Amino acid sequence: MSSLYFDNSATTKVKPEVLDAMLPFLKKEFGNPSSMYTLGRSAKRAIESARTNVANLINAKPNEIYFTSCGSESDNTALKGIALKNREKGNHIITSKIEHPAVLNSCKTLEKEGFEVTYLDVDERGFLDVQQLERSITNKTILISIMFANNEIGTIQPTKEISKIAHNAGIIFHTDAVQACGNIPIDVEKMGIDMLSLSGHKIHAPKGVGALYVKNGIEFENFMDGGHQEKGKRAGTENVAGIVGLGTACNLAKQNLNTHIRYLTKLRDYYISEIERKIPNTVLNGPRDQNIIQRLPGNANFSFLDIEGKTLLLKLDQMGISASSASACSSGNQEPSHVLTAIGRDEATAKSALRITFGEDNTIDDVEYLVNCIEKIILN
Ligand SMILES: *Cc1c(COP(=O)(O)O)cnc(C)c1O
Repeated sequence: MSSLYFDNSATTKVKPEVLDAMLPFLKKEFGNPSSMYTLGRSAKRAIESARTNVANLINAKPNEIYFTSCGSESDNTALKGIALKNREKGNHIITSKIEHPAVLNSCKTLEKEGFEVTYLDVDERGFLDVQQLERSITNKTILISIMFANNEIGTIQPTKEISKIAHNAGIIFHTDAVQACGNIPIDVEKMGIDMLSLSGHKIHAPKGVGALYVKNGIEFENFMDGGHQEKGKRAGTENVAGIVGLGTACNLAKQNLNTHIRYLTKLRDYYISEIERKIPNTVLNGPRDQNIIQRLPGNANFSFLDIEGKTLLLKLDQMGISASSASACSSGNQEPSHVLTAIGRDEATAKSALRITFGEDNTIDDVEYLVNCIEKIILN
């Protein structure tokens, strides 16, 4: 039986080049980067070179990159770190209803601490309304956190417009770019981004490493207390091999970005047109690209109204196909996806969703096989 992976938004396979770059740091180069002797200095150098690679992918400065253990930690650090640091200035945070749980649940925790959070609506395609954003700002607002691209339906928010609104009001702007990094161009300077979260395992580095970009001059409270690592902002002996892997993955992503976008867009658009041609009673969740990129190149999310998402997933799995109903983080959850609910899907439609997220390993033949399998399951 063939085994096909279409769940690259849940996690990605470590690239061979990434593994090769990491291996020495799991073998001979095992030094503690804080040690002063040669072995330690060599690990330290590797971390700093990775920092430059991560910075280059998003046009940041190396000293604006802080390594973390994952995208969730980066989100927690951004939300809680800014909230606690700016308590005196205000207690209001603005985010959206379709954020990742790492952001939404950080907000819930902050609400218990006396912060007030506005959860902005999105339209039927998942875009937030920048005018509603502007109207939601009060003189207590200290942070706006809006994801760059959605992990379920691929919607890419108007980040530049959002940052302009934030900065006109003197508010810090954070974006969860875990899905966007390496999949679409990001330039923190041009786009006016103050803080940005990214994660290794979503861009072909291993699990257990992430990064937070914080623009120079922005202060935040530590999330992890301890030693002096990461300029004292994130204690704990560094995950050297993971960090080296992340740096290598960012470097590869930067080199391949245009080809990557073109290839994944081709797979996705072929899949969308084949599904719409062959399967009745489907609804595409999320936007369609017009003249500009509005949707993550590798993301296609359909509700197949004639079958429940879970049943479809199980049958696909039996055919050797890995895909996802909503997102990996909400699987096991009986509730319909909060994202699909926010774009106005009723419960049945939300529960019949199938998220396909393509990667560079997939081919047009794979897409054909996938569509045939879906056709067999639904039409038989
Ligand atoms: C996967 C994901 C995260 C969490 O990243 P981890 O490294 O798995 O903690 C956060 N935000 C978005 C949008 C994601 O897709």
